[in-house]
Parts: sequence; C-alpha cells; structure tokens
Amino acid sequence: MGLGFYGGFKTTLKHLLGKSITRQYPYEKRQLPPRTRGAVVMNTDEDGKPKCVACGLCVAACPDRLITMVTGPAPEGDGKVVEYFHVDLGRCMYCGFCVAACAFDALDMSSAFELATQNKEKLIERDMLRELRRPDERPLEEETG
Ligand code: SF4
Ligand code: SF4
Repeated sequence: MGLGFYGGFKTTLKHLLGKSITRQYPYEKRQLPPRTRGAVVMNTDEDGKPKCVACGLCVAACPDRLITMVTGPAPEGDGKVVEYFHVDLGRCMYCGFCVAACAFDALDMSSAFELATQNKEKLIERDMLRELRRPDERPLEEETG
C-alpha cells in the first residue's frame, strides 16, 4: 500500500467525522448563482412587451432545432412581429446558443431548473410568449455582465 491509500483514508475520516452539510432539499433551497443556466425565458421591455423582433437568428442557432417561430405582419407600419414562439424544453441541453445569437437581448437562461412533470407535453410545447420576464425580475449581474 502506498501513500495514496493513507491520503484517501484521511480524506474519508475527515468527512466522516466532520460537520454534516446535508441540505433538506426541496424544503431548503440553495441560492443559485445569477448566471445559472435554467429554462429559456423571453425578456420584455419596460412596457412588458416581448423584446423579440422576429429575426429568426435563435431558430438557426439552436443545434437541436428546438425553437419554432411563426411571424405575422406588424399591426402598424412595416416589418413583422412574432406570433408564436415555442421551445422544446424537454430536449433542451441548456447550451445557451439561442441566447448568444439574439442581438436584441430578447432571450435569457433563467435560474428555473425544477421542470420535472408527469405531462411531458408541458415541456415539449413551451410557449415563450407566456414565459416572460420583465427587466426588474432579472438578476443585476445578468444585465451588467
Ligand atoms: S428571440 Fe432574438 S434571435 Fe430569436 S427571433 Fe427574437 S429577436 Fe431574433
Ligand atoms: S439552450 Fe441550446 S438547446 Fe436549448 S433552445 Fe437554446 S440553443 Fe436550443
């Protein structure tokens, strides 16, 4: 037996006799870092309207083609608006490519990670136009970083 064995044994003893750090999840929740990558959300402007301008860059950026977007003509003037924006969170790998591709700060990774459900349809057809996050709900570090 080499020194490695005694080193490992010392580590085991240290944890065995040390103070327990068990957290009673889900009753005790950890404060997650502001840059945690959880479920994708759509950001709004100050008026509560989605910031998405229907450019489609995020749709192209998603490696798994999980974003489905339908656009329509803008009610006033030229251009188009997003009418339907769904993300299949059941297959999302939280890579953040869609967020990085968006030049309009319309998408973010929220800290929501407790997505378990008995109805997988709730994950497959996740309507981002309902998963809206106002500027005052965003972590400070996220806005400045
Ligand atoms: S979320 Fe961003 S990248 Fe995606 S369509 Fe809207 S503006 Fe374009
Ligand atoms: S986080 Fe990645 S996998 Fe999930 S929707 Fe965005 S680009 Fe696609």
